[in-house]
Amino acid sequence: MPRGAAPARDDNLRDMALRLFNTYSRALEEFHPLDPEGKIVKMYTCGPTVYSRAHIGNFRAYVFEDLLQRHLELRGFKVHRVMNLTDVDDKTIRGSRAENLPLAEFTAPFKEAFFEDLEALQIKMPGAFPAATEERYIEAMIAMIKTLIERELAYQAEDKSVYFRINRFPKYGELAHFDLAELKSTGRVKNDEYDKEHVGDFALWKAWDEEDGPVAWESPWGRGRPGWHIECSAMSMALLGDQLDIHCGGVDNIFPHHEAEIAQSEGCSGLAPFVRYWLHCAHLLVEGQKMSKSLGNFYVLPDLLAKGYSGREVRYALLRVHYRAPLNFTFEGLEEARQALARLDEWLRRLWEAARAGERQVHQPKTIEDDKFAEALDDDLNISAALGHLFDQIRVSNR
Ligand code: AMP
Ligand code: ZN
Repeated sequence: MPRGAAPARDDNLRDMALRLFNTYSRALEEFHPLDPEGKIVKMYTCGPTVYSRAHIGNFRAYVFEDLLQRHLELRGFKVHRVMNLTDVDDKTIRGSRAENLPLAEFTAPFKEAFFEDLEALQIKMPGAFPAATEERYIEAMIAMIKTLIERELAYQAEDKSVYFRINRFPKYGELAHFDLAELKSTGRVKNDEYDKEHVGDFALWKAWDEEDGPVAWESPWGRGRPGWHIECSAMSMALLGDQLDIHCGGVDNIFPHHEAEIAQSEGCSGLAPFVRYWLHCAHLLVEGQKMSKSLGNFYVLPDLLAKGYSGREVRYALLRVHYRAPLNFTFEGLEEARQALARLDEWLRRLWEAARAGERQVHQPKTIEDDKFAEALDDDLNISAALGHLFDQIRVSNR
């Protein structure tokens, strides 16, 4: 059972429950949203850092989240989904300085490109795309940090930055299954470790320094900017409330990012759990290594479109392997996606033809209950099994 009260779902969809693998418990759990009616699902997904065009590894995460949203909707849930845009952090600031542009001007084209790619990959638009630099979210972040300081869960260090005091939050490390003693600094926000009480204490507010140039906001602790983790806590809570049903990202987000989000959010609201189901997708790999900007082994969507692949083919190639299994990116994989889609399209074309000709013997699932495709997805989004059933069905009806 998930942590926190799980209200009985009062609907008559069907008996078989949807089960999801929760990173927190490392177990498959039946999914029931917090909504007393069992209808609304509050879902937050970490979005891109807009310092360059997102690569298709990033899009593996967004395609998986899209599958999750669509499946929840198929099962009758109403999904309230938020995806943030990280438009202030070390990388965006560094990029804007290198290009000699104000931060907002530097990030704008990458936001635009992100929306174009979402559309090409047929990813449903989340209900909201909050950006960290929006004034109301900066205010929400500052308010949260104030509360954390009042509760002695945070402190301002000599370097004027404000840090979360992980020793005061005993659950810290539970999501990642880490021992506090093993924690090392992550480098996402610059810091001077000598100023911190514990090496694992993370920055909530980063005091301004020269490298930040004109990027700064006033705060009770002086000029500075928010840390990356507080951005997601503040934006998710502002738009979805103190407790969420589902929070997703890639496995690299588990620690420290999502661990820190739990500490900040529960530290402020006093309510636990902040998130009832944590879902993380495995990486898209290139020759065994994570596809990433830093390794330079990445493709962006326009690279693949220029080679003649469609967004739909790329989507299929990213989708067809279970989200918790690492997926190797290859051009053979893209060719297989192309062939699978061609078979599917040909089958659909023939079904339409038969339907138009008035044939009654068209083999189609009659109800959701006997739809093996959807049932496979109920099993922690088992897409490979679902596609297996679909292609079995294609073989049968072709005969
Ligand atoms: P970032 O812009 O680095 O914050 O990443 C945005 C999202 O993409 C996060 O959820 C990451 O976990 C995810 N991500 C980054 N690289 C990969 C990859 N190679 N495969 C799958 N997901 C990734
Ligand atoms: Zn996030």
